[in-house]
Amino acid sequence: MISYELSDEHQDLRETVADFAREVVRPVIGGYYERAEFPYDLVARMAKIGLFGLPFPAEFGGMDGDLLAFGLALEELARVDSSVAITLEAAVALGAMPIYKFGTDDQRRRWLPGLCSGEQLAAFGLTEAGGGSDIPGGMRTTARLEPGGGDAGAGQWVVDGTKSFITNSGTSITSLVTVLAITGGDPGGPREISSIMVPAGTPGLTVGPEYSKVGWCASDTRELSFASCRVPADHLLGARGRGYAQFLEILDEGRIAIAALAVGLAQGCVDECLRYTGERAAFGHRLGHYQAIRFKLADMEARTHSARLAWYDAAARLVAGQPVKRRAAIAKLLASNAAMDNAREATQIFGGYGFMNEFPVARFYRDAKVLEIGEGTSEVQRMIIARELGVPD
Ligand SMILES: Cc1cc2nc3c(=O)[nH]c(=O)nc-3n(C[C@H](O)[C@H](O)[C@H](O)COP(=O)(O)OP(=O)(O)OC[C@H]3O[C@@H](n4cnc5c(N)ncnc54)[C@H](O)[C@@H]3O)c2cc1C
Repeated sequence: MISYELSDEHQDLRETVADFAREVVRPVIGGYYERAEFPYDLVARMAKIGLFGLPFPAEFGGMDGDLLAFGLALEELARVDSSVAITLEAAVALGAMPIYKFGTDDQRRRWLPGLCSGEQLAAFGLTEAGGGSDIPGGMRTTARLEPGGGDAGAGQWVVDGTKSFITNSGTSITSLVTVLAITGGDPGGPREISSIMVPAGTPGLTVGPEYSKVGWCASDTRELSFASCRVPADHLLGARGRGYAQFLEILDEGRIAIAALAVGLAQGCVDECLRYTGERAAFGHRLGHYQAIRFKLADMEARTHSARLAWYDAAARLVAGQPVKRRAAIAKLLASNAAMDNAREATQIFGGYGFMNEFPVARFYRDAKVLEIGEGTSEVQRMIIARELGVPD
């Protein structure tokens, strides 16, 4: 029999994070969002309950959990607020995970304890102004190995280029960014792509100002420029030329995490509307009396439920070591649609109050759109699903 019952451990984690989101995040997040301020104290409190180490082994300071546990935490955070949820998602799935998966023993020991503790954040820089979906075709950032310099004369990577929209790249606790760069190959033919780790503060790395964003306003997103930015040769992550394959693997997992986050937002819309339709009256009845409103809530719940099953399914397959590309793309597509649709309907149910920033549904509305864009747009998810289906080209 197929079962999506959570284990007691997963259920306990879900409840712990749900309490944390309700009691710690909810009362203060609106202020951070309004001021577009990174919530350092909330991040420190998330770190204290171990969220940044969730899917990593204890030997690196992690919590010995899995992607299902990580997704549950993201879902419960996003049910209240997406800025803190994306900060966690990007720190773990994009920042620390590549080091855990592809790093040498030395690299893991150097970076993971600080990242698992949440005292440091890492970022992953793929996107460039010339194209986010079209990687590596739209990439221009290069890294060339200059022999002779650096530690013990092993040489140095010299990175040049610009990365756009990089989450967690400019906080005061950001410790490094891993960038995808062209490290060789023929400009007319296939290019060699590798991942290079650049510690924060490396000369030649310029961190741009925080973007002015429509949503995720309490998260950190910046442009990074590299001008003859030199790092030691051993800052190559994994094998030379494996950067593109690494990026595909990281994004498969990241999409499941984003799907969980999107389901949290969709659920948050249901939560808020359930409460509001019991309080607000019009034409002599509570809003919940009217079938037009009841049907909206029924559809919101149905969308949330089916999207949740899709991310559980993808996560369960990943944990079981099965291929997930198609299921991860389906989960991300369904869940980001559900988040967008629910946010639009929730705002409608709240009427004018839904357009006021002080109400969480306004934040949900502003935060939902990017879920159809980040870590692969909805069109990219459809391209993946069609390719996996074997639709003839
Ligand atoms: C808040 C925020 C945080 C982000 N954080 C990170 C981060 O931490 N690291 C990182 O590397 N990136 C990050 N990104 C970038 C994000 O992943 C990209 O914006 C996304 O992948 C889309 O790339 P693009 O913006 O270049 O759009 P484009 O690739 O230019 O796409 C534009 C439009 O064209 C469509 N399109 C493109 N190609 C095709 C095609 N072949 N067929 C049909 N339609 C197509 C797209 O779906 C989209 O609708 C972030 C973005 C945002 C907004």
